[in-house]
Amino acid sequence: MVLDPDAAIRAKITAGVLSAAPKPPDYMTGSSTERCDACDERILSTDLEYGVRLATGRIVRLHRRCYWAWVDACTATRPTP
Ligand SMILES: [Zn+2]
Repeated sequence: MVLDPDAAIRAKITAGVLSAAPKPPDYMTGSSTERCDACDERILSTDLEYGVRLATGRIVRLHRRCYWAWVDACTATRPTP
């Protein structure tokens, strides 16, 4: 159980696991058995998996809520002009 998923996602951005430039999902599926790249919890069949292909070619798999938390985290850390 992740107590602060936002902090976990920010840590993964810092570590380079997640890109700091989120993209629209390349696919969505409701029949995932993968582990979420943001919170490390398994994505259940009751949830949606968002798959995003990063610029490096690696595909990250995220819960629907984690995808939006990732987008939020990147928007929040981006300096305002
Ligand atoms: Zn997740």
